[in-house]
Parts: sequence; C-alpha cells; structure tokens
Amino acid sequence: MDIQQQILQLRDELNQHNYNYYVLDQPTISDYDFDLKLKELQALEEAHPEFADENSPTKRVGGEITKNFNTVVHEHRMYSLDNSYSKEDLLDWETRVKKVIDGNVQFVCELKYDGASISLTYENGTLLKAVTRGDGVQGDDVTANIKTIRSVPLRLKGDYPPKFDIRGEIVLPFEGFHKMNEERIEIGEEPYRNPRNTASGSLKLQDSAEVAKRPLECLLYNITGNNLNISTQFEGLEKARAWGFKVPGAAVLANSIEEVLEFIEYWNDHRHELPYETDGVVVKVNDLHQQDELGYTAKAPRWAIAYKFKAEQVSTRLNEITYQVGRTGAITPVANLEPVELAGTTVKRASLHNADQIEKLDIRVGDIVFVEKGGEIIPKIIAVDLSMRPDTSQPTQYISNCPECGTELVRNEGEAQHYCPNYNGCQPQIVGRIQHFISRKAMDIEGLGGETVALLVKENLINNYSDLYTLTKEQVIPLERMAEKSADNLIKGIAASKDIPFERVLYALGIRYVGETVAKKLAKHYKTIDNLRQATVLDLVTVDEIGIRIAESVVDFFATEKNVIIVERLRNFGVQLEISSEQLANQTNKLEHKIFVVSGVFESVSRDELKKLIENNGGKVSGSISSKTSYIIAGDNMGPSKKTKAEQLNIPLISEYQFLEMIG
Ligand code: AMP
Ligand code: ZN
Repeated sequence: MDIQQQILQLRDELNQHNYNYYVLDQPTISDYDFDLKLKELQALEEAHPEFADENSPTKRVGGEITKNFNTVVHEHRMYSLDNSYSKEDLLDWETRVKKVIDGNVQFVCELKYDGASISLTYENGTLLKAVTRGDGVQGDDVTANIKTIRSVPLRLKGDYPPKFDIRGEIVLPFEGFHKMNEERIEIGEEPYRNPRNTASGSLKLQDSAEVAKRPLECLLYNITGNNLNISTQFEGLEKARAWGFKVPGAAVLANSIEEVLEFIEYWNDHRHELPYETDGVVVKVNDLHQQDELGYTAKAPRWAIAYKFKAEQVSTRLNEITYQVGRTGAITPVANLEPVELAGTTVKRASLHNADQIEKLDIRVGDIVFVEKGGEIIPKIIAVDLSMRPDTSQPTQYISNCPECGTELVRNEGEAQHYCPNYNGCQPQIVGRIQHFISRKAMDIEGLGGETVALLVKENLINNYSDLYTLTKEQVIPLERMAEKSADNLIKGIAASKDIPFERVLYALGIRYVGETVAKKLAKHYKTIDNLRQATVLDLVTVDEIGIRIAESVVDFFATEKNVIIVERLRNFGVQLEISSEQLANQTNKLEHKIFVVSGVFESVSRDELKKLIENNGGKVSGSISSKTSYIIAGDNMGPSKKTKAEQLNIPLISEYQFLEMIG
C-alpha cells in the first residue's frame, strides 16, 4: 500500500472510532490503541505534508491561535424562538398555525438544549466553517475551535447534499463540567458557575488547544440550504444522524397538541436524567412546505415555538448564614435552610456566592426564600418572599472578620470574593494546604488522609506541611482511631515522600495558580527552588505559558518569609527541591537558541526521544520550516515539499547521527 493510501485509511479509521465513541457512545477500541493510531497518522502527515488535510482527525488537538475572530454573514439567517409557558400558550400557537395551514398538521417535539448555538457549513462532505449565532444575521468564525469537538464530524458519511448548513447547540455535559471545576478548585481558581456560560465562553477562546481539552459536545437540530431533497423536519433529523451528526434520540412526531403536551410532561420529569442541561422543549411544524407557508416574524419562525420548563422551585425558611473558609482563604457564604424536597433530593444548603449577591437580593435570616435548582448542582436562592418577612427582620451584615481566626477580611478590587489574609495562621487554610500537600498528584503520602491531617493540626502536632517530617510514632498513636500499625504506615509514608521529584513538590507547595502543568514547566526551566525563588516577575513571564498572574503569585509566595522558612525546613528534611542529578546530567545548554524541525522516520531513536533530547539540551522544536529554523533532522521518508522548502531557505539537513554527535 502506498503512503497516501495508508494516510487515507488511517483517517477513515480514526473518524469512525471518533464517531463510535463520541456520537454513538459505543467505542470499539481502547483509548490506548486509538492514541497509537493517531500518533502513527501524525508521523506520516509530518513526513508527507503534500498529503495534508485541514480536516484530518489529527487537527482535533487544536493549537491554532485566533487573535480576532472574523465576522461572517450567515447565508441563511439564524432566528430566535418565541417562547411559551403554558398549555394555553401552546393552544394559541396551534390556532395561529391552523389559520394559515389547511388540513392536517404534524409536529416534531425536540428537547431544547441549553448551550451556545452554532451554524456549521459543509461542502462536499467536509466541514467548511463554523459560525456563532451572533445577532442572527452575522456571527463569528470559530471553525478552528469547533474542529476540536469530537462529536462534530469532519467528514460525512453516506448520501449528503453537496452543500448545506446545519444548526446545533454546543453544550458542556454535567460530568465534564464538574471535572473541569474540580481541577480549577484544586489550583485555587474559582469554579465556573454553570455549563451553558462555560460552553459559550469556550467558543471564543483564542487557543484552540484549550478548547480541545474541554469535553464539549455538539447536538444538531436543523438542516438548511437549497435543493436538499428533504421534505420534513423529522426526515432532516434522521438524515443528519445518518451522515454522522449527533442528533439526540428524544425527538418524536406528534399528531396533536395533546401528544405534544405528553412529551413535555414526560421530559419535565425526566430531564434531570439527561447528561446535559435542557431548558425546555421545541415544537416544530413537521412539513417543510407548511413551514414555508407560515414563514417568519421579524425575529422568529412562525412554524416553531419553545416551551420553557419551569425551573423547579420551592420555598423554605433561611435559618442561618454561615461562612466557609477555603484552602486559599476565599470566603463562601452558605445559606442553611429548613430542609425541603427539590427535584428529588433533600436540600439543606444553598450557595449565596458572595456579599454582592446577598445585598442584591436583600436576603435576611428568618426570610422565606425561593430555592431553585438550575444547571448548577448546588441549588441557589433566587428571591425572597417579602410578604412573609417578619417585622423584626434586620438587613444582613456581611462578616468583616474571618469566622475561623478573627482576622479582618480583604477584598481585592475587581474580585467578588472576600479573603482571609491570615495565610499562616488560619486553621482551614492551614489544614487545606497540608491536605493539598499530601494529595495523590502532589506528595502522595500513603497512610495519611485528610481527616487525620485535620486532627493533627487540631492537636497542635503540626502547623504547616514541613512539620509532617518531625512527626514520631509516639506522637500519633494517641490520636483517635490510630493503631500501632497505621501509625507505622503513616510515618513510613511521610519518609517515602522525600523521594517525590521536584516538579511534584513544587505543585504540592500550593502556590496559587501553580497547578500540575505549570509546576512541571517551572521545574524544568528553573531546575532548583533557589533559582525559582530568585526569579522576578519579568523573568517568569518569559517562560513558555507563564502569564503575569502566575508570575506574581510565585513572587508573592517567596516574598513571604514564613514560606521561605518552611521551604528551608523541607530542604533540611531531605525533600527534593531540585531536579534529580540524573535529570540534570541529561540537561545542557548546548543547543540554546537553536530551533529544530524533526521530519521523517529514524533508526536509532524515536521522534519523541529526539524531541526530548533537543529540549533537554536547551533547544526548541518547531513543527514547520521557516527562516528561523536552525537545523532539520531528516530521517527516512522525509516529505519532498519539506525538502524543497529547506533548500530554498538554505537550512542545513542533518541526520540523527550528526545530531547525536552534536550533543555528545
Ligand atoms: P432563544 O435563545 O431563547 O431565543 O432560543 C432559541 C435558541 O434555542 C436557538 O438559537 C437554538 O440555539 C436553541 N435551541 C436549542 N435546542 C433547539 C432545538 N431542538 N431546536 C431549535 N433551537 C434549539
Ligand atoms: Zn482566617
């Protein structure tokens, strides 16, 4: 089989696996095997740029930066929908429809997905562009970002028209949303409020590689275009599904408004079982000729109407407002409610977000409040029943001091949250930081759990994470539920953590905004904690992917004397504060300021190893040849167009052996 055939076959295979996984939810190979095939295709494409394809499955990982999104005029306008809220509204709509249409009318009932609307244009079976709704007439071209969404087909299957637009909604399913939030909380970032805003925010991210990391999905509901050979909405849905689009299976045909109401009733009860958020039902006239006859108002089709679900809501009494202090010192006010049933669970607490929210709603202890469960899993208070307010009620005074340590709270300009600044003396912050230090991705201390940490702090046995290394078996045995054996394990686990590599120690320190990836970058660049400590904000921002916010946070951390003392103690206990001598031995600056392009297949080392060697020796790896390229390391099968380009720009080609000699 020749190279081109091989490439085409791999693309087909990978497209099919993406479809099985992300559209059908029925993967037929392991993630590992999928990755292997993807890497194989990547290598072939890099070696043979002459077979490049904008819609290759390798483009899913993103990496394209868009500074300004181009405005694009929609060929077919994207309308909004009229809303209805009751059976009467729906019957009124039916009457209006029947006034225009003679004879039978069939309806399609679909769910109304709550996300960001998108219009995809396909030409000859490949995705040409993806545009946001914007004002309905024109929107932003977000094609690079949309390509990273696995359920958006890059190549269609079956018998599709040569050109058409398809509309849908980009949603962020709950599971992925919560996972994203867990990761944010872990590095001290505020969690996202709800899936819908996060989904629509994602479309306008400048780096498509960031979008690729978000578990977004695209659900389709409407095909538009000319000469499509489709006669009903329902047929359109079925065809879209056959071409490879994700079209949720809930849609049904209804022969009367009574049947429409049954659909609404069913999903009103069952929508919480769906993996993504919905906020209603969309009812459409099925026949496309009838749709044409009905036409549009200035803003919406007359042939469709949205029915909005009532957000599930109950009223109950607000008994108390308490304040939680997080690991980073952020204060969260919590409403403690008289327990009440809501959407199948008992609700006792609701989030109040921050001081502004309390003030805006004028929420007071003793009030009867309306609680709603929207896209957020934690219910929220949406209003106060003022008619029930007791005469004696007093406005809520937001706390001015930390409920745990009494320190006066601060609130930075432009931030909604209050913070307790008592970094080293506030118990939940101390406990939270030590819990982070011992967590799995950080020091991974076996035999020590979060509750024991809280206990150790409470008993005054430790006050910061460096104290862990002073603990003795005799000290911990008297603790609640601590047997001889578990005490042994705990001490052993702590000792073993002295071998954890520097990059993870750096993450474990809990510097705000320094997550796992940032810690790796910093460790690699600075190599020792002393170098990092001496770095200025200006130094730090020159490191790849380190922004001003992270840089300032790192500098702040080391500007606090107490932190420096703690780090010194860690050093004395033998914790790894620099990259290991093996790692260091392999690192030089021999290739500083040199940019390499790696192309082809190699005999003695793999491409990944080559890239690692370049980076470890201070060089940079680039994907494409330009006048800035210093060398091209050429293996077998290097693509002819790369070769020509290298010759044109006079860039030296070297073999893998010449390269290895270069670094000794
Ligand atoms: P609205 O934003 O309230 O005017 O509602 C109109 C929007 O609902 C459309 O722009 C779509 O993005 C969205 N929508 C979600 N699900 C559907 C669906 N099944 N059919 C049509 N529109 C839908
Ligand atoms: Zn405090």
